[in-house]
Amino acid sequence: MVILSLTINDIFEKINMEKKGYISEIRLNTHVNVNRCYQCGKCSAGCAVSEEMDYTPSRVMRMLQTNDTENYRKILSSESIWLCVSCQNCLTRCPMEIDIPQLMDFLREKAIQEKTVNKKSKNILSFHRAFLDSVKYTGRLYEIGLVADYKTRTFDIFQDMDVAPKMFAKGKLPIIPEVIKDKKQMDAIFKNTKQ
Ligand code: SF4
Ligand code: SF4
Repeated sequence: MVILSLTINDIFEKINMEKKGYISEIRLNTHVNVNRCYQCGKCSAGCAVSEEMDYTPSRVMRMLQTNDTENYRKILSSESIWLCVSCQNCLTRCPMEIDIPQLMDFLREKAIQEKTVNKKSKNILSFHRAFLDSVKYTGRLYEIGLVADYKTRTFDIFQDMDVAPKMFAKGKLPIIPEVIKDKKQMDAIFKNTKQ
């Protein structure tokens, strides 16, 4: 998530960011200094989805360290940043306490901005958006709304359709959405996050 409050130093750093390259931009927005990584590989070893990734977490770190825009572009169009589930395993294992989940979050936002989202990952982005829509309008997860929103975005009407009757029978798919009491607080969170 992009840091909202900036110090004077942050503002000066932002002004010079273009000259310094993406490493500074990452540091400013996430407080992650990619150059602190010494490639021990513990993050990749503990990541449950690293085998599915095109670049493992430690590989992402190494590519970022090169400060090479071509490598940066590869990462921004990779599947890895969308497969990360923010489980924090890598962060708890990292001897340098490098916040890779925070970094992945930033890289996802950047990929959306730069329009480099990997084709295979577009459904994951649609799921993120449908999930956030549900939370935005009800303050919690409204399952049927989430499914309808997701399917409208992806046109993948029949995906997982066999699961729906079972969930419905078990009362896991309420028809009427439940809206939280203090919805204004949720509205304020979304409003502040957009700024
Ligand atoms: S665990 Fe930390 S230091 Fe080791 S490779 Fe991963 S990010 Fe780098
Ligand atoms: S937070 Fe992401 S990169 Fe880190 S271990 Fe979990 S899935 Fe892997």
